[in-house]
Amino acid sequence: MKLKDKVALITGGARGIGQAIAITLDKEGADIVVADVNLVVAQKTASEIEDLGRQALALEMDVTDYAKVEPGVNKILDKFGKVDILVNNAGITKDNLILRMSQGEWDAVINVNLKGTFNCIKAVSRPMVKQRSGKIVSIASIIGLMGNAGQANYAASKAGIIALTKTVAKELASRNINANAVAPGFIQTEMTAKLSEEVKAKMLEAIPLAKLGTPQDVANVCLFLVSEEANYITGQVITVDGGMVMA
Ligand code: NDP
Repeated sequence: MKLKDKVALITGGARGIGQAIAITLDKEGADIVVADVNLVVAQKTASEIEDLGRQALALEMDVTDYAKVEPGVNKILDKFGKVDILVNNAGITKDNLILRMSQGEWDAVINVNLKGTFNCIKAVSRPMVKQRSGKIVSIASIIGLMGNAGQANYAASKAGIIALTKTVAKELASRNINANAVAPGFIQTEMTAKLSEEVKAKMLEAIPLAKLGTPQDVANVCLFLVSEEANYITGQVITVDGGMVMA
């Protein structure tokens, strides 16, 4: 067991990649907090996790609103007495070309993806600093590394997450807190199921491993980064993309 008795908060943990991360961390012995805007789905995932044997807490948490995030973290501290791991996974897209992108589309994506990540890091940093330990992993995207036509808001939010991660890594390193980012490529989820066959075929051509990734591929890297095996890794971005982006 790599995470025995650790407490992990996963935002957007009710479904998709977040759910795979929640289940993977649970199987390695962590108690899991599933935080999501949709409480009913979060409760369903939490009860599946409890069936696997560890404790789980479902929280209704809109990450864009610090006034909801901070009380959520306090609930975790009341129930478990600590928070060891934060996975910033909640994320949305609202694609449009810059010429057509509305203020609302820009703000919504920046608020969930970037401000939400900041809010959660801010809320857990005090207890982690007190504990003198913590692991923070934020889900970015290869789009934050390479840009993408039609995704100015999303690309900027994910590039922001990468810069935020490096800053947090520098600020909190002396307190034994590691912060890293995972940048998935083209992963099989509801988010990518919406893309047209034409777009999918074009993307596959650009993937050296010539296949889509799975939520489990992303969860495996998160597990490594929040485990003690990654104690000497901080401020890094690990791509999980079948080789699409090679530095
Ligand atoms: P999903 O849309 O399947 O899941 C995202 C989850 O986040 C949902 O449960 C959603 O709730 C929740 N969420 C949305 N807004 C908020 C909010 N304000 N506060 C809390 N929770 C919220 O996405 P994926 O699993 O596909 O993606 C997960 C992460 O991985 C995202 O950050 C995404 O950008 C990133 N990513 C995904 C890739 C892919 O190929 N799928 C590629 C690269 C990165 P609700 O169900 O109510 O919408």
